Parts: sequence; C-alpha cells; structure tokens
Amino acid sequence: MRFSTNFKPYVLLLVVGIFLLLGYVYFNFFSERLNRDIPVDEDVKSSSPSKPMVRSRVWNMVSPEKLLYKQPSVLVGRTDVVTVTPWLASIIWEGTFDPVLVDNIYKPMNLTIATTVFAVGKYVSFLRDFLETAEMHFMVGFNVRYYVFTDRPQDVPSVNLTQGRHLSVIQVPGSNRWQEISARRMEIIQTTIESQIRREADYIFCLDVDSKFHARWGAESLGRLVAVIHPGYYDQTRANFPYERRPASMAYIPMDEGDYYYGGAMIGGFVEDVYTLTTVCRNRFAVDAGNSIEAAWQEESHLNRYLLYNKPSKVLSPEYLWQDFKAKTKEVKVIRFSGVIKNYAEVRPNV
Ligand code: UDP
Ligand code: MN
Repeated sequence: MRFSTNFKPYVLLLVVGIFLLLGYVYFNFFSERLNRDIPVDEDVKSSSPSKPMVRSRVWNMVSPEKLLYKQPSVLVGRTDVVTVTPWLASIIWEGTFDPVLVDNIYKPMNLTIATTVFAVGKYVSFLRDFLETAEMHFMVGFNVRYYVFTDRPQDVPSVNLTQGRHLSVIQVPGSNRWQEISARRMEIIQTTIESQIRREADYIFCLDVDSKFHARWGAESLGRLVAVIHPGYYDQTRANFPYERRPASMAYIPMDEGDYYYGGAMIGGFVEDVYTLTTVCRNRFAVDAGNSIEAAWQEESHLNRYLLYNKPSKVLSPEYLWQDFKAKTKEVKVIRFSGVIKNYAEVRPNV
C-alpha cells in the first residue's frame, strides 16, 4: 500500500518527462527543417548583417478609436493607373491612401526616419532648397535625422529645423569624377548605417540633393524595402529600359526580364533592408570595377538588378520622383518630389 502511493507520482513524473523530451526533439527537428526550406537570395545570405536587427520591426496598424474619415470603397477607386504590383506590393498614387488615417496610424509609433543626402563639390548649392522644402513636406510630424555627406562642411547652410528634426554633417572626400561620387554613395551609406544610423533610426530614405519637395511625402511611403518608379520610363516597355545589358556586368538584366525601371534618386525602407541592398550593390560595383566595367547608369543599374530579384515591398509612383523639365502627365495628380533642372557642365566636376 505504502509502496504504491509513493510509486505513482514517480511514474507520472517520468511519463511527463519523457513526453517533454520527445516534444523538444520533435520541435527542434522540424524547426530546423523549416529554416532549411526557406529560400534565401544568395546575395542577401552572403551579406546579412552580423549584428542583430536593432530597431527596424513591424508594428501593428493601430488606428485610434472614433477617428472620422471617408469610408473606403471596395468598388470605386483609381482605374487610370495600376496600384498593385504582380507580387502584391502597393504602388502609391494620390487617391489610394487617406493621409489623415495614415498619419494617425504611424505617428504614435514614434518612428525616426533617417534621410541621407550627398552634397559633394558644387552640389552643396542644392542643399538649402532641398532641406527647406523637406521641412515643409517630408515626413512632417515625424522624427527626422538628416545625414549630409559633403567635402565642404563649411558650406552647409543653416536651415531652421522644426522640433524632432536633427541634422548631422559627415565629411567625405571629393572627386574629379561624378560617376565615382555617385557610385561611392552605396558604400558610404552602408558604412554609416553600420557606424550610427542602425542605432539612431527605424527607416531610411536615401535621396538625391538636386531636388525639391513640392507636396506631402509622408508615412504612406514607409515599408520594408521601398523603390520609386523612374518618371522617364513608366509608360515604356521593358525593352526600352536603360538596364545594363552586357552579361559581363554584375548589373546585367536580360532583355526579356524586368518589372519597372526604378529611379536611383531614392532608395528607402527598414534600415537593415537598405543596409543589405547597399552592401550587395557596393560589392557588385567593386567586382565590375575589377573587371574594368562600369554599369550603364552606375549605381542605378545595380539597384535595378537588385530590385528585380529582391522585390520591393512598396513601390512609389512617379509622383515621388519627377523631373522639373518634364511636363506633368494626366495620371500624375500631384508632384511630391522633383529633380531640378541643372546645368551639368556647371555643377559636375566632369561631363
Ligand atoms: N552628387 C554630388 N556631387 C557630384 C555629383 C553627384 O554630391 O558632383 C550626388 C548628389 O547627391 C546627386 C547624386 O549624387 O543628387 C546623383 O547625381 P546627379 O544628381 O548628378 O545624377 P542625375 O540625377 O542627374 O542622374
Ligand atoms: Mn539627381
């Protein structure tokens, strides 16, 4: 009697123990299999950051109660433009989002947006307009950290920044070739993400300085990996895209491939995703250089190749990258950001 009452709990414990052990072994085996089965792009695999993700993460889309906004329709919307890619990423056009709703969802997240801009050589002269118009239209109400890369720190204008916005100047070498300045952007963005941006921001946008903001560029543009459709080619067939077409280049895209032609004047997304993109593009650029090849449109060509196989999670319409010399077309209801007309011979170190 005494034996059996003492014995029962031991048996029970033993049985539970065996089950736990089996469960542990089973779970380990399957989770390892699951991990193995997830395909990872070779480039991304080889360049994944060694440090863990620090800030970038996915937030829930929480909308405040009692917020009044227009009822979204299931049947009526823009029909003159395509608003989703074949891999189901949104293409952001005016009329596809409610700015009040978007702001109310994203502002409580207290995000910090890094914005890198290069102003090397005479391009410092574009900084004032860029910064002043960004203060009026770019991510208004968010924490923004501008990182200005220049070889002329003394020529960086002092611009009044609104609350929550911050600017740091980072000195970089000048160059006699604009192609080199443009190409080195990827490398410098990569190393600055490593040394500081990774700790200081959630999202990043890398923008051309020879541009101005004209209308809202807000949280509707946020995503894991964000690209913009180049205004010069959005109505063209892929055969007309100025991709790099020489197979010897690491930026090569065959004639029968390609989604859109993306503009090199804007790269955006989670800091870690842009870090991977810049790492891959920089490495490919170096391989090309080693083979004495410079891709047709330098880093824009490498960007296009990267985005063809690493699809952006959000695509910005040409509203987010226009060119001042180009007349507005009927589908573009609002120009948000546009490249200014510049005299190449005057601003570039070489032509
Ligand atoms: N850039 C620069 N100094 C130069 C050339 C280029 O700072 O001498 C930077 C600048 O941020 C510029 C970007 O590289 O916006 C891309 O070059 P650019 O605007 O001349 O190219 P485009 O838009 O004309 O293709
Ligand atoms: Mn430009």
